[in-house]
Amino acid sequence: MTNHEAFLAAQAVTPGGVNSPVRAFKQVGGEPFFVARAQGPYLWDVEGKRYIDYIGSWGPMIAGHAHPAVIEAVQRAAVNGLSFGCPNPLETALAAEIIKLVPAVDLVRFVSSGTEACLSAIRLARGYTGRNRILKFAGCYHGHADSFLVKAGSGVLTLGLPNSPGVPSALADLTMTAEFNDLDQVRDIFAAVGSDIAAVIVEPIAGNMNMIAPAPGFLEGLRALCDAHGSLLIFDEVMTGFRVALGGAQALYGITPDLTTFGKVIGAGMPVGAYGGKRAVMEQIAPLGPVYQAGTLSGNPVAMAAGLANLALIQTPGFFQELSARTRELCDGLEGAARDAGIPLTTISIGGMFGFFFSDTQVTSFAAAQRCDIERFKRFFHACLGRGVYFAPSAYEAGFTSIAHDSAVIAETLRVARDAFAAVA
Ligand SMILES: *Cc1c(COP(=O)(O)O)cnc(C)c1O
Repeated sequence: MTNHEAFLAAQAVTPGGVNSPVRAFKQVGGEPFFVARAQGPYLWDVEGKRYIDYIGSWGPMIAGHAHPAVIEAVQRAAVNGLSFGCPNPLETALAAEIIKLVPAVDLVRFVSSGTEACLSAIRLARGYTGRNRILKFAGCYHGHADSFLVKAGSGVLTLGLPNSPGVPSALADLTMTAEFNDLDQVRDIFAAVGSDIAAVIVEPIAGNMNMIAPAPGFLEGLRALCDAHGSLLIFDEVMTGFRVALGGAQALYGITPDLTTFGKVIGAGMPVGAYGGKRAVMEQIAPLGPVYQAGTLSGNPVAMAAGLANLALIQTPGFFQELSARTRELCDGLEGAARDAGIPLTTISIGGMFGFFFSDTQVTSFAAAQRCDIERFKRFFHACLGRGVYFAPSAYEAGFTSIAHDSAVIAETLRVARDAFAAVA
């Protein structure tokens, strides 16, 4: 089977041939490749071609694909049954691990995706505060629940959809949006409707409009405004949790959110999400409290076992130092190679997450990300892909490294990038 045949077959049975839109290569053009297997830093497509992978299933694969410890944990759990619909001790073990690593979390509830975690967190915030409005930031992505599909990032942004049809305006009207890193705007919104804002939800490091770090004082300002107005601060760490640092972005910046959402790394590639936070807030969730949230497959034993194995791996001494150093090596190398080709490029990396922009100035806002040279990005993407290096097929996605991306893999990537930059100069 060729990639093209696989794509034709998929399109016959699935909208656009994909089960998540960014996979369709709409922003970069061309057709997606279909994956047969993955190992360490590599993917192999159905034609047997190998790629160095900088997506890592969009974040979970921080220890590399098919890590033996994760696979063994999954196999060991699977023979005992795939799902029980009853409590099991693996759920408690993974919850305890998250609580140990993230001090802001007193209690945690598992769900099956980041989307579910975020939609549950805002329902809880609304139930806890008795308020209806939420505030989010343009270009931030919190999954595809109705309330979040207002100026969202990631695939929505890639496809150029401002808002999704199918979201009732009565609901969308309750979602206020501000610009990421623009605290004055947030202050104005709070001055106008602060007493009706249940929660501010933010990616503490934005990773769904390429990658943008919080400006100094931005997260601190959100914390202060939420405190002043009795609103909850929700950090969406589905992407950054256990990836930018062991304790997530909140550990890096020293901010304590009221609620945190997780996903990606905590499932090691299995479908897992979670939300957690202050005891008084989390106790409002059923069965303790009146805010309803449930899930037939939540706390799935195989997924919990995978997550436990992943969290054990990232606690190996020196893990994040090594991961950060390799990721910076990649970004420095990309900048140098671009410079040699006369192409303006800036990069950012924190832990095992990075971004690169075809821009001559550092990008600190969504508007600036949209002003980058998207046409050159597309050509660079394909020049790399053809040479066996797979970056995200959109200029609005962050990149991800794993501990399996060692210096040799980075060096091979940079050789490819050098040729690719020359091809698009
Ligand atoms: C990926 C992501 C989500 C959604 O998670 P899914 O598992 O795709 O539903 C939510 N928030 C952020 C920040 C993400 O990166």
